[in-house]
Amino acid sequence: MKVVKFGGSSLASATQLQKVLNIVKSDKERRFVVVSAPGKRDGSDMKVTDALIRYYRDYLAGNDLAPHQQWIIQRYSDIVTELGLKASVLERISKNILSLASLPIDDNEFLYDSFLAAGEDNNARLIAAFFSQNGLPARYIHPKEAGLLVSSEPGNARILPSSYDKIEELNNSEEVLVIPGFFGVTRDGQICTFSRGGSDITGSIIAAGVKADIYENFTDVDGIFAAHPGIVHKPHSISELTYREMRELAYAGFTVLHDEALLPAYRGKIPLVIKNTNNPDHPGTRIVHQHSSEHLPVVGIAGDAGFVSINMSKYLMNREIGFGRKVLQILEELNIGWEHMPTGIDDLSIILRERELTPIKEEEILRQLLQKAEVDHAEIEHDLSIIMIVGEKMKSRIGVTATATKALSENKINIQMMSQGSSEVSIMFVVNKEQEKAAIRALYRAFFEPKTEK
Ligand code: ASP
Repeated sequence: MKVVKFGGSSLASATQLQKVLNIVKSDKERRFVVVSAPGKRDGSDMKVTDALIRYYRDYLAGNDLAPHQQWIIQRYSDIVTELGLKASVLERISKNILSLASLPIDDNEFLYDSFLAAGEDNNARLIAAFFSQNGLPARYIHPKEAGLLVSSEPGNARILPSSYDKIEELNNSEEVLVIPGFFGVTRDGQICTFSRGGSDITGSIIAAGVKADIYENFTDVDGIFAAHPGIVHKPHSISELTYREMRELAYAGFTVLHDEALLPAYRGKIPLVIKNTNNPDHPGTRIVHQHSSEHLPVVGIAGDAGFVSINMSKYLMNREIGFGRKVLQILEELNIGWEHMPTGIDDLSIILRERELTPIKEEEILRQLLQKAEVDHAEIEHDLSIIMIVGEKMKSRIGVTATATKALSENKINIQMMSQGSSEVSIMFVVNKEQEKAAIRALYRAFFEPKTEK
């Protein structure tokens, strides 16, 4: 039995919805369908969720609401009309969109979430009606009825563990269930959304709750590419990834799936497949607990900019007990999160995201390093990128680092730092931001096109 989730671009128009119907109909195991709000039809279009944000802002500001209300209703109306759905479907949607403007503003910390959730909620109703009208018995189900209880954290909800037993009862349903993604309901009955892109999370929760054999996440690409297609020309799509590999790639900039979506499926030991609504015969990318067969040592190469390095040195640092603690305490007291800590004998660097710092905090760190940790020298280096080469099978191979460093040096890329965790799932290189793309291209060629390398 499968849980399928369709993203906004798969649901943006009547043509896309027809594809979705065919996909669900073509496999009887697809019994739970989680949907996003309608996404962009083309590059110049707006997502319904973004239109709802504007509508919300105008409501708070006391502006004229008609333009946004009409735009949103028209988006659904275009789809309803083209699909030939009953007029009552649109009437209901229209009423719901207009009714948002009568929700209380004062003392309502869930107002924003209620506006945003309307995108998925109305879409789920529309899609259930479309399925039923086209020979696929289906039923819309609200997250409250489905048992999706979440924490009371507006815009950043988390599923309450007690939800899973109730969700399992959905297995008793005869019809295909269409569930709006992106939000759940608090114990007090308030609508509360996950963070943006959170319909992936709903899909994962439902898959874990109903104990699905597979969670299929349909998007508009043939799975996860081994490198960013904007950087490498036509990279191949990865056929299989482990959850650990996916986590590492996502950390360094692969954004096909919402970060938090992996956890429920991972804990439920449910394989996840990323597939393409526009090319459903393509096998896509499977994310599994363990590789099913012999695999290349490296599965993907990711890069992410926006990093900073705090470099310090102190003579005989290696003999000083408690030095690391002092340094980390300085960061902790300034409420600064850090990411990596490569070390030498007498030097140590801390790599963190640029957004953690402000000029004032930078000054304070340098001052405290000199005073409290008594370093000989400290400096902060900006404009860095990290590059991760990822693959669980690196562990049993010799020469992966050699291949990588050779490729980088041949392309005149200076490696500023390098680190590999003990799990050997990835190797990380720190390079200057300007060299990030060239580094990714060089590594891609070295690992995936070795024959064409000069
Ligand atoms: N519609 C929501 C967003 O745009 C959630 C989602 O599509 O997953 O963030």
